[in-house]
Amino acid sequence: MPKAPPADSSQSSPPAAPPKSAPQRAMEKLGLHRDIDLALHLPLRYEDETRLTPVAELRDGEPAQIEATVRDARIELRPRRQLVARLVDDDGDVIVLRFLHFYPSHQKALQPGARIRARGEPRGGFFGLEMVHPAFKTVEPGAPLADVLTPVYPTSAQLPQAYLRKAVASALKRAPLHELLPAEALPQGHENLPSLREALQCLHHPPAGASLSALEDKQHPAWQRLKFEELLAQQLSQLQAQRERARLKAPALQAARGGLHEKLLAALPFALTGAQRRVADEIAADIARPQPMHRLLQGDVGSGKTVVAALAAAVAIDAGWQCALMAPTEILAEQHFAKLVQWLEPLGVGVAWLTGSRKGKARQRMVERVASGEAALVVGTHAVIQDDVQFARLGLAVIDEQHRFGVAQRLQLRRKLEGDGTQKLEPHLLMMSATPIPRTLAMAYFADLEVSTIDELPPGRTPVLTKLFADNRRADVIARIGDELAQGRQVYWVCPLIEESETLDLKNATETHAQLSAALPGRMVGLLHGRMPAAEKSAVMSLFKGGEMAVLVATTVIEVGVDVPNASLMVIEHAERFGLAQLHQLRGRVGRGTAASVCVLLYGTPLSPAGKERLRAMAETQDGFEIARRDLEIRGPGEFMGARQSGDALLRFADLTEDAPLLREARRSAALLLERHPTVARAHVERWLESRAEYLKA
Ligand code: ADP
Ligand code: MG
Repeated sequence: MPKAPPADSSQSSPPAAPPKSAPQRAMEKLGLHRDIDLALHLPLRYEDETRLTPVAELRDGEPAQIEATVRDARIELRPRRQLVARLVDDDGDVIVLRFLHFYPSHQKALQPGARIRARGEPRGGFFGLEMVHPAFKTVEPGAPLADVLTPVYPTSAQLPQAYLRKAVASALKRAPLHELLPAEALPQGHENLPSLREALQCLHHPPAGASLSALEDKQHPAWQRLKFEELLAQQLSQLQAQRERARLKAPALQAARGGLHEKLLAALPFALTGAQRRVADEIAADIARPQPMHRLLQGDVGSGKTVVAALAAAVAIDAGWQCALMAPTEILAEQHFAKLVQWLEPLGVGVAWLTGSRKGKARQRMVERVASGEAALVVGTHAVIQDDVQFARLGLAVIDEQHRFGVAQRLQLRRKLEGDGTQKLEPHLLMMSATPIPRTLAMAYFADLEVSTIDELPPGRTPVLTKLFADNRRADVIARIGDELAQGRQVYWVCPLIEESETLDLKNATETHAQLSAALPGRMVGLLHGRMPAAEKSAVMSLFKGGEMAVLVATTVIEVGVDVPNASLMVIEHAERFGLAQLHQLRGRVGRGTAASVCVLLYGTPLSPAGKERLRAMAETQDGFEIARRDLEIRGPGEFMGARQSGDALLRFADLTEDAPLLREARRSAALLLERHPTVARAHVERWLESRAEYLKA
């Protein structure tokens, strides 16, 4: 793009907008565009310039502001060059201000006789009390003190604190912050909450004497108000989505007596667990209604979600509708495909297979089978929702490991299901996840989602023992692999995640593969990584599944869904680089058979505190729900939900682990507003969410 000409280069071109100053550009970079953005840009902390402390009352290490008169100031050269000023306050007590870096302007201001206000941390020095590098200014005797605390904002190098303070203060005056909420919509038990405008005023410029600890802990009434408003907006948009959905129509899918559903149950090589029966019934009741189901099926790794999905699919197919099953990776999709073919094809169901790597004629044929309705069940990756795939009669969509799909893919799916708005019937939606969503989180983000939980593992599973080793014990671990293989077992070795570089990832996996092959002569050691062509991947997987391959070295491509019951040892290298949920998923690959299984977490030293906490959590518990809770604690909800992908934290002010009572109030209030004050509801959502509304529904 050609550069814009300098403003004065041409008389004929229309006057350009005045060029933005560096601080203006820096503000935009921080996302501070509108008045409301600035009004919601809250201080990191405050400085107290509302009081003066007599020098005699200063306490070591406690920041304070003093006022005193310069007695003398001079440059000392030892132990290094510095400016030292001695000041006397009105009570005659002396304090030293010391500057190791200084400018001529400092010297000029600190003339004998000048009256100075200085703020800093007093220290008892060798020559009495002193402040090193205090902030200071000259004042007239009797100059008024600030009557509010001074905010210190998060900022960047090009944006001076003083500039930002002014910009925020004037935006705060202009921003449209009038009270929207009627009294009955305010949280009960918090009748004295300030209005939004008062709350922001207080958070930016707390009055002298405000409790700094309450402000810092976000428990101050001003914080409560702000957090409530945010949660309310979020609950409103969820409820609205729910109501929009309730108006939609879906095919009522009734399980027929003696139908496919019963035939599948009879053909299964196992009996359903009680939990599986319960959730299958919940789902069956949902899809029998003429409104689209929107349900999350959560259950720990290995709890048997696939068969529950297959049963729902059987009902849909029997009623003459198609079912789509999507998984986030090809490997996982392929496992589903294999299992569903095995279960359903003998019962006469046509199953199609659609992924990104299937191209050309083969893909075309599949797309035709889907469009004609000949394929009753379509299994694949997100290739299933590409634009050229048109279902004849889609009745049920199942999404496995729902949280692993990106935000964009989730929105795309939503559009696919909703169609162009002209279709009369929408498909039912079943999402599955092995990463259980903690209750408060489910309430906050999935207000319009029903949740079914499988809280029981199929019988015959053995708990996995988890052991931590520093990576200098690698040789011992390799020896242990030999023992395991001698007993006819199989082993996974997971290579570290190197986020910056897929190439390094691969190099590491290749090296480990070579090392293990050399250490285990006569054994087949396989390698599986994300860059391999799909055909090669599935060849490796089937060797491992068939038991010919003893050890499988893999990058995280095996994270979800791989099912090889004879594997009883898993080694995860540089386990500290993985997230908790991911470690839990990986560990779930072993302990699927009857043999006692072990998961070894090798870690690099030194460990970060968060890394240490994660590994400790893994060793202490196997319960996916407990792990999710700790994950939330360690990482915070934004990251937990994968919101980082969008570069936008979901909630900026409220904290779901601490604000559950406010969340409940916001829920009540959201329902009330939609019921009695729909225009207020709309205005509130607009104020808070703007362009984020669509994202929050995804
Ligand atoms: P996940 O919930 O992690 O997706 P899967 O659906 O892959 O779990 O099931 C894990 C394994 O358990 C599969 O091999 C599956 O066939 C088996 N399985 C599922 N339900 C039962 C059951 N009720 N009894 C015994 N095995 C079961
Ligand atoms: Mg699964």
